[in-house]
Formats: sequence, C-alpha cells, structure tokens
Amino acid sequence: MSVQFRRVALIGIGLIGSSLAHAMRRKELAGEITGFARSEATRAKARDMGLVDAVFPSPGGAVEDADLVILCSPVGTYAALAAEIAPALKPGAILTDVGSVKGAVVRDVEGHVPPGVHFIPGHPIAGTEQSGPESGFAELFINRWCILTPLPGADTQAVEKLSEFWRGCGSNVEIMTPEHHDLVLAITSHLPHLIAYNIVSTAADLEEVTSSEVIKYSAGGFRDFTRIAASDPTMWRDVFLNNKDAVLEMLGRFSEDLSALQRAIRWGDGDTLFNIFSRSRQIRRGIIAAGQDTAAPDFGRGVPKP
Ligand code: NAP
Repeated sequence: MSVQFRRVALIGIGLIGSSLAHAMRRKELAGEITGFARSEATRAKARDMGLVDAVFPSPGGAVEDADLVILCSPVGTYAALAAEIAPALKPGAILTDVGSVKGAVVRDVEGHVPPGVHFIPGHPIAGTEQSGPESGFAELFINRWCILTPLPGADTQAVEKLSEFWRGCGSNVEIMTPEHHDLVLAITSHLPHLIAYNIVSTAADLEEVTSSEVIKYSAGGFRDFTRIAASDPTMWRDVFLNNKDAVLEMLGRFSEDLSALQRAIRWGDGDTLFNIFSRSRQIRRGIIAAGQDTAAPDFGRGVPKP
C-alpha cells in the first residue's frame, strides 16, 4: 500500500484517532500526520508516542494544508469544530469523521464545508471500551466494516479514495445513507449499550443483593454487560442525544419483545422461551461464521490459573 494522502489531520486523538495513527504508520498510508487535541496531556502523549508528526492546540492549525481531515472526537463537538476548521481547509481536501451517528453529523457539519472540499461522513464499526491516546492499536480496524455515508452528488473519486484508505487500514467498506446507518446502528450498537448501562445501574441500586455479591458472581453473565457499560460516558451521551429517533424506535420494539418474554415467564410458556432463545443462538453462530467474533468459550478468556 503506497502513501495515499500527503498530509492527514486527526482532530481528536483518543482510541479511534490513535488507532488510525498506528494503522497509517504501519501501512504507510500518510506522508505526514498532524493532530489536534484540546488537552496538553493528550498533546504530550501523542508527541511522546510518535502518533503524530506535529500536534496543535487549535484545530485550525492541524488542518492547514491537509489532504485528509478526520474528525475523531465525540459527535457533540463536531459543529463547533467544523466551524473552526472551515476557513483553513484546503480546496480538494477530503473531510470525514468517525462518529457513531451519521444524520446528526451531516446536520452539524455540512453547512460549514467550503466549496471544493469533499465532505464524506464515515463510521468504522470497530472499538473497545477503552479511551485516550494510549488505548489505540493498529489492528483495530482489521476485518471490521467501515460505513461511509456520502451525500447525494458526492465526488465519486473522493469516495473511492477514502474507501481505499479504509481498506488500507484493514476494513471492508460499505456505502449507505445516513438515515439507514442510524437505524442499523441503533439496534446493533446503541441499544446494546443502553441496555448494558441500564442493567449495571439496576444492579448498583439493588438493596437485597450486596455490591460485593454482584462483583463476586459476575461471571454468570453480568460481567459481559459491565465491559460495554465501561465505555466512555461523553461519547455515549452524545450518541443518544444525536440518534434520538432511531434509538427510541428500537427501544419501543425492544420493550414490546421484553413484555412478551415477561408474559411467557409469568404463564410458564416454555415453548415460547425455548423458541426465542434458539433463534438467538443461531444469530450468535452467524456472527462467528462471519468472522465478527471468536467461537472460543467465554469469549476466549481461557481457564483461570489456580
Ligand atoms: P476518546 O478515546 O474518548 O477520545 C476522544 C478525543 O476527543 C480525545 O482526543 C479528546 O481530547 C477529544 N475531545 C473530547 N471532547 C472534546 C471537545 N469538547 N473538544 C475537542 N476535543 C474533544 O474517544 P473515541 O473512542 O476515540 O471516540 C471518538 C469518536 O469515534 C466518537 O465520535 C465516537 O462516536 C467514534 N467511535 C467510537 C468507537 C468506540 O468504540 N470508542 C467506535 C467507533 C466510532 P482530550 O484527550 O484532550 O480530552
């Protein structure tokens, strides 16, 4: 893979920004990487770790002369950042993002994009519950999907160039509308996070079961929710504030299905429970067959040492 972009600017250097930096370095996708981080701590870390060639305290400084600009901060920050970088964007540059919602990103950014700059929203479906510049790794995007949601009339060459960039990072690329993205991600990502946050919060409020018991017996299933519920609160607050309609739609369906399970338990309807659980098991097998998770028991955690 040869250098595709002479200069790439990362606006935000957390888990996703730093993982992109690692992947670009490893695959030599960028001639030079510049970065913006709001805190001196993150700027120092990015410098010390060699994630970027130059780091700036202002987003405008980081995007100057960049051919590819990637917004990598929480989606609630995009409107202000887009307004700030707009005058410094180079004609012909590609402006993209990695935000977990797409409709709101189009709403917040599109109006600021100067003529001649190609705005192509994106979302790598890859992540962990870790945050910050030290949490990134080059392999994060390998064999994961990256969804691009170009707007009507988008420059096809620019879309292809950005697709090629993501393929260089190891991803498979899919194109869809922002609305469809938000609906799909509401069920596959946003609702699971909401459920995880809720179940952990319910357990924390229980009075009949002590918190030490919740921790002690967590391997019964609870532990897997706690991993998701440890995700960054700012990022997830912004996701729910910015994908309200799709999340509420999926939450409505989820509540109806939960009521059906509740009814089946109340009436001792074992057939209904068995059928629903069997179908779920097939979905899990499909995810493993598609290479999106490991088939190892207990997510490959292995047998604890005595
Ligand atoms: P992260 O590790 O928490 O990093 C966030 C970065 O944004 C940090 O550099 C932080 O700066 C900066 N930032 C936070 N608030 C800011 C503000 N008000 N103004 C300017 N910069 C600000 O987050 P992440 O996991 O990389 O997520 C970044 C984006 O990727 C989000 O839009 C998220 O939706 C998307 N995404 C995340 C995942 C995931 O699993 N985590 C997966 C796919 C996409 P400081 O370090 O200086 O505080």
